[in-house]
Amino acid sequence: LNRPPNANGRYRLGVMGGTFDPIHHGHLVAASEVGARFGLDEVVFVPTGIPWQKKGRRVSGAEDRYLMTVIATASNPDFTVSRVDIQRPGETYTVDTLKDLREVRGDHVDLFFITGADALAQILTWRGADELFDLAHFVGVSRPGVELHSPAVKHLPKDKITLMEVPAMAISSTACRTRVSQGLPIWYLVPDGIVQYINKRGLYAPEDNSDAADQ
Ligand code: ATP
Ligand code: MG
Repeated sequence: LNRPPNANGRYRLGVMGGTFDPIHHGHLVAASEVGARFGLDEVVFVPTGIPWQKKGRRVSGAEDRYLMTVIATASNPDFTVSRVDIQRPGETYTVDTLKDLREVRGDHVDLFFITGADALAQILTWRGADELFDLAHFVGVSRPGVELHSPAVKHLPKDKITLMEVPAMAISSTACRTRVSQGLPIWYLVPDGIVQYINKRGLYAPEDNSDAADQ
């Protein structure tokens, strides 16, 4: 899938990390908006392996989250999906994601890490925070209910970060999971294929305490 550099010798690659349990239209709109604004050649979605922030809650299997991400992005020629995080043993840290992508995709690639305002606010607490800004430009997108220009963000290096308003999508994966478990619809919050996949695999059902979804 590696594509060649542009005439100027560079290739602009957006990176959308997430648990994607499930992927929803908030993720897709954010990636699309940043892609347009930054003239990105491609946005690669990177489902996490074990998300260290989410210890203590049940996370769907990596293959289910990977396949949902593939289904949701398949129709967009500029969206791709990477397995770097689900292949790497142990917990997922963004610093490793960015290093792996740089290695796999080559030195002609400029990385733009896309993150919602909630995740951005925690950025200084991420492992390897001191290295992060050498690896990528960070784009923080607005998210309903979260302050975009939060005090935490003021301490981040200004030339390495861009804050950007995107159309407000009041959707979270948590709300999608809760709705499914309560028998409420998630049509139009997630792509149609994701509704079908969740039904087919029986994800997020209330009695789903663990193994049904892992077979
Ligand atoms: P959960 O409720 O399980 O935490 P989530 O909806 O926050 O799920 P994640 O997979 O945690 O989804 O998010 C991946 C990235 O997408 C994060 O940077 C997050 O801030 C961003 N993001 C998620 N939903 C939105 C949204 N509705 N608008 C803008 N950004 C979003
Ligand atoms: Mg989240």
